[in-house]
Amino acid sequence: MLSLGLEDKVIFVTGGNRGIGATVVSLLQQLGAKVAYTYRSSNHYYDGDLPNGALPIEADVTDAAALEAAARQVEEKLGPVYGVVANAGITKDNFYPKLTHDDWDAVIDVNLKGVNHTIKPFISGMYERGEGSLVCVSSISGERGNVGQTNYAATKAAVIGFVKSLAREAARYGVRANVVSPGFIETDMTKGLPDKVKDKITAEIPFRRFGKPEDVAWAVAFLLSPIASNYVTGEVLRVNGAHHT
Ligand code: NDP
Repeated sequence: MLSLGLEDKVIFVTGGNRGIGATVVSLLQQLGAKVAYTYRSSNHYYDGDLPNGALPIEADVTDAAALEAAARQVEEKLGPVYGVVANAGITKDNFYPKLTHDDWDAVIDVNLKGVNHTIKPFISGMYERGEGSLVCVSSISGERGNVGQTNYAATKAAVIGFVKSLAREAARYGVRANVVSPGFIETDMTKGLPDKVKDKITAEIPFRRFGKPEDVAWAVAFLLSPIASNYVTGEVLRVNGAHHT
C-alpha cells in the first residue's frame, strides 16, 4: 500500500479551528499525522466536530511570544515538529482610498508578520534534524491582485517572496518550503460576498465553481509529504480551477 509518509509526523497548523485550516487538520489526521493547531477564541466553532485527538493551542499569530510558547508546547506533548502550515489569515477589504491605516496594519500583522511568527520558532530545530516541510497559504489575490484587496494582496504576494527565499536558504539543511495559492474557496472568508460578485467571479472560473477546503487540503498534504513532493521546494501550487493570473 502506498502512503504519503506522514504517519506519526508532527504537524503544526495555524487557524485550524475552521475553514481551510480545519479541513487540513482533519485530512492530516486521516493520513496518520500527529496534528497540533491554533485557534484564537472560537475553538468551539465546530461544536465538538473537530477531528479527534488533535492538540488545540490557543494562540494569536500576531503575538510572537504566543507562537514561541505554542511551539514549545507542541514539541513537549507531541515531539519534534516535521511540518508547519501557516494558514491563519484575514481580510479587511476596501477600495484603496477608503482603506484605513488600521485595516492595512491589521492584515499585515496577521497575514505577513503572523507567517514569520509561525515559522520562526521551528526553523532551527528543523535545520538541526535535517528535515522538515513548511507550507504557507497565499492567495490568487497575491498573484494577480483583486479590487478592494490592496492590503490583502500585498501580504499574500509578500508570503510568496518569503517562501522562495527561505526555500533557497533551507535546502542545504534538507528542509523544504512551498506555497499553496488557492483561488476562491467556499469558507467563511468568501461566504459574505454579495451574490452578484460571487456570480461574476464564478463566471471567470473555467471550473464554474468555487473550490472546496478539501481541494486545498490535499495540495497542502502533497507539499508536506516527504515522499510525494520530496524534490519540490520554492514552488507555488495553485488550487484555483484554472482561474489564472
Ligand atoms: P476563514 O475565515 O474560514 O478562517 C480563518 C482562520 O484563520 C480561522 O481559523 C481564524 O481563527 C484564523 N485566524 C485569523 N486571524 C488569526 C489570528 N490573528 N491568530 C490566529 N488565527 C487567526 O478563512 P479560510 O479558511 O478561507 O482561509 C484560510 C487561509 O486561506 C487564509 O490565509 C486565507 O487568506 C487563505 N485563502 C482563502 C481563500 C478563500 O477563498 N477562502 C482564497 C485564498 C486564500 P478564528 O476562528 O479564531 O478567527
